[in-house]
Amino acid sequence: MTTTRFAPSPTGYIHVGNLRTALMNYLIARKAGGTFILRIDDTDPERSKEEYVDAIKQDMEWLGLHWDRIERQSDRLDRYAEAADKLREMDRFYEAFETPTELDLKRKKQLNMGKPPVYDRAALNLSDAEKEALRAERGNGVWRFKLDHERIEWTDGILGDISIDAASVSDPVLIRGDGQVLYTIASVVDDTEMGVTDVVRGSDHVTNTATQIQIIEALGGTCPRFAHHSLLTGPQGEALSKRLGTLALRDLREQGVQPMALLSLMARLGSSDPVELRSDMAELIDGFDVGRFGAASTKFDVQDLFPLTAKHLQALPLADVADAVAEAGVPAELAEPFWAMARENITTLGDLKGWWELCRDGAEPLIADEDRDFIAEAVALLPEGPFDGETWGAWTKAVKAATGRKGKGLFMPLRKALTGMERGPEMAALLPLLQVIRARG
Ligand code: GLU
Repeated sequence: MTTTRFAPSPTGYIHVGNLRTALMNYLIARKAGGTFILRIDDTDPERSKEEYVDAIKQDMEWLGLHWDRIERQSDRLDRYAEAADKLREMDRFYEAFETPTELDLKRKKQLNMGKPPVYDRAALNLSDAEKEALRAERGNGVWRFKLDHERIEWTDGILGDISIDAASVSDPVLIRGDGQVLYTIASVVDDTEMGVTDVVRGSDHVTNTATQIQIIEALGGTCPRFAHHSLLTGPQGEALSKRLGTLALRDLREQGVQPMALLSLMARLGSSDPVELRSDMAELIDGFDVGRFGAASTKFDVQDLFPLTAKHLQALPLADVADAVAEAGVPAELAEPFWAMARENITTLGDLKGWWELCRDGAEPLIADEDRDFIAEAVALLPEGPFDGETWGAWTKAVKAATGRKGKGLFMPLRKALTGMERGPEMAALLPLLQVIRARG
């Protein structure tokens, strides 16, 4: 059975880049009728925070990315310790004692000699007595996995055939000197034991994948299918990594972006399919195919989310936005005509308030000198309330007959006098909602 997982580290809020990973894994699982696991990668006790775990769950729920199971790596430390023992028994695990400064120096030397900066495995030559002495002097060493120096190959769901020379990669550190288990081994143990069949993650993990394939094989597990999606860049192709902090999902929610707008964009951006607003998750699942994504970096422009949000809102019945309409201050008896008027004139639900204020308080009229008499005449012709959908038509007809004005010369000064703006909602729909008309001719 298809099983995927989204595995964020709870060290910050999740952003559009994480969402891309989450969504691809979610859609693969749902399309296959499989299982989607939310895995919290919290083996780093200093950087992992409970508030981020809660925030990740909230963000996922807001988007409707429901998980079938939640797992936490901090609950599974004994499993990782067991795997580490297994690797030790197999002689694929060794302790190394170099300090970060020493490693840095080694790397610089290698680079100076035009060699790739790969760990030189000096620790493999240490005798037991030397290790004992180093341990006494420096404390416990780090534990490195001994890679087999052969080519590591897989067919990537997005990148195609990949072949990496293991000799060009440093033996990965899987356990730190203080005993902290690192993601590389924890992830392998989880993927294997949880029956994960498909792993989609960012292309920054390609080298990890190579080493993880060897660890999985050493532990006797079965490799999942891997796919590495490209990383997002800004609209100009600039790196997004520094700005991702401002593209947290909660910030977008705060700005009024609608989940379906975000999901519609992220589920197709960077693929050969066009980005179109979808009305529900089923539509997104239907057309999704990870193989249609390209390897090239993907441009993301936060501004693209707003037209999609506007389009999504326009199509909604009042029932779906009743809370937001009420929150904007609209009395229940006006909610229906207000939404009918406003829906085409908002980008986000946050814009409702401004339209309601216009209806409730009126606007500072905008009246050109040459229109003063005309407006005074028109105001005198305004029928007695209550106004309805027909009022605007009847009124402007009467004004036209009395003043001889027509077309733009007739309608525009009236619009500006009533709304203080040159553009806006249908006047026929707006007029009955104007609680106070303050056109001062
Ligand atoms: N916690 C890892 C990350 O956020 C997960 C990577 C993976 O999907 O394996 O980068």
